[in-house]
Amino acid sequence: MAGRKRIAVALLALLLFLPAFVLGSREDIARIRGDTFRLPIDCAAAPDSPGSAEVRIPAPPEGWPEWAQAIVVLDTPPGLVRLRRGEEVRCGLAHDARSTDSRFRAGVGAVFSAAPGSRAPIIVTAPRLDTGSHGLTIRYGDPAPVQREDTLRFAVRMGGLAVVFAMLLSALLVFAGARDRIAGMFVLAGSAMGLWLAVRSGFAAWPRPWLPGEEAMYLALQLLPVPGFGGLWYVALAYGRADRVLPRLYRTRHLVFLLAALVAGQWWLGGPEPTVFWRGFAFLLLLAMLAVGIACWRAGQPGGRAVVFALAPQLLVLGPLYGTLLRAWHAETLILGLAWYTVVMTLALSLRMGALARQRARMKALAYRDPLTGLPNRRAMAPVLPRRIDEAQALGKPLALVFVDLDRFKQVNDTHGHAVGDAVLVEVGRRLASQLRGGDMVARHGGEEFVMLVPGADAAEAAAVAERLRRLLAETPVETAAGALPVTASFGYAVLRPDDPGGSAGVAALIARADAAMYRAKQNGRNRVEGDAG
Ligand code: GH3
Ligand code: MG
Ligand code: MG
Repeated sequence: MAGRKRIAVALLALLLFLPAFVLGSREDIARIRGDTFRLPIDCAAAPDSPGSAEVRIPAPPEGWPEWAQAIVVLDTPPGLVRLRRGEEVRCGLAHDARSTDSRFRAGVGAVFSAAPGSRAPIIVTAPRLDTGSHGLTIRYGDPAPVQREDTLRFAVRMGGLAVVFAMLLSALLVFAGARDRIAGMFVLAGSAMGLWLAVRSGFAAWPRPWLPGEEAMYLALQLLPVPGFGGLWYVALAYGRADRVLPRLYRTRHLVFLLAALVAGQWWLGGPEPTVFWRGFAFLLLLAMLAVGIACWRAGQPGGRAVVFALAPQLLVLGPLYGTLLRAWHAETLILGLAWYTVVMTLALSLRMGALARQRARMKALAYRDPLTGLPNRRAMAPVLPRRIDEAQALGKPLALVFVDLDRFKQVNDTHGHAVGDAVLVEVGRRLASQLRGGDMVARHGGEEFVMLVPGADAAEAAAVAERLRRLLAETPVETAAGALPVTASFGYAVLRPDDPGGSAGVAALIARADAAMYRAKQNGRNRVEGDAG
């Protein structure tokens, strides 16, 4: 069956790839016809975007040199970017930046022709959100270094976002597989922040504009931080185990969603744009999350440490360096900061999943083992019996069950105390387990009762096994703190009958017969084997 399935999958895969082979073999050179691109804007006449700033870049004292000058405008919100020098005017849409001049990838750029000695300034008009989080970055000068830097920026942004979304995808799998709420929240927060940075870095136009228009991009810039910040706060609290360390603070885990939504909501009531607040908001939130992480770390929570490691570099990105050293590279550092956060948190999440799985396995092992004798307990035997019965029935093989009950065990307890009784039980368990063969199983069924499952044994073999066990107990007294005590047990065996039902009904019938046989052994004088021949 499995083999047939595999062949079917292979055929299906072949079928899927067939068109590629057929199409691929038509021509030996791949050709793609490019449509001519024309930005339908009259750069000289187009109106400025609302909130546009004008920046004048004066010519050097000796005038412009004898070679061309490149200029690129970065980090603008959606809108028209116009570049002018004397009579030369170029423009582009900030949210479609990558298609205006194919030489620039990270922003709107142009190369002005050589104008030796000219003293006309370069005038940049560009939309700007003067909020500290969304300034304007302009690079200009010789074309080669300007374009190289532009390409470097593009590579860093693209690579950083690729890391972010690859990490989020693997966290999404954790969420889907384990229904882990923290992983889900992490994916939500990470996606919101990642999309926000993508839109902010001009990727809303890559490879084609994927947001329905300029307004949608603008809205995304204003509102994506709401789920982003809200989710980050939730993850910091939940992952750091603040429910144990700071239970009162833990109750605020949904608070940042609310606060950020209020900030966004006042916009609709005519207040300032949310982006005005986001940078300060982000910095305060970062400090709060780091404080939570440190508190949880100090309380011994590894989740707290992960939160601190994941967030600490953002202090550099959002802190004092933001406006100074990192000023011209803040889009890139924000993306790299988010990439670091998602890498550390995804790693921490998967480590936590591993720890949870190990803990579950440990708990299961504990729950299925009798602590006194170390043998499997009744709970462990329960799912095995119906499986073995079904197997025996399907294969037409015999199967036997041996019931063991120690003789006059109460007297051992009454005479020598419970501790000695326990020691006897441990030794009996050890002796029974020493006789197991492949496929056999022995379990402590209850107090001084044991059950042994012997797949493949018919009545004669079951009788032989029981007799061997009986002698193993009876012939050697058990060494205890109260001296060597003679220990015997009564044995009852039963074999599976052809007309026994399968599954748990078969289990009940088999146990009942073995139990009844054991009772006959008790009645017939103990220390003996009775069987239900089937
Ligand atoms: P018989 O089966 O031969 O009829 O006599 P018995 O004395 O073994 O029968 P009974 O079922 O009345 O007594 C079982 C005793 O097993 C009662 C209880 O004190 C003892 N027992 C059950 N579990 C444990 C245990 O975990 N440790 C110890 N020390 N004794 C236990
Ligand atoms: Mg008993
Ligand atoms: Mg007994």
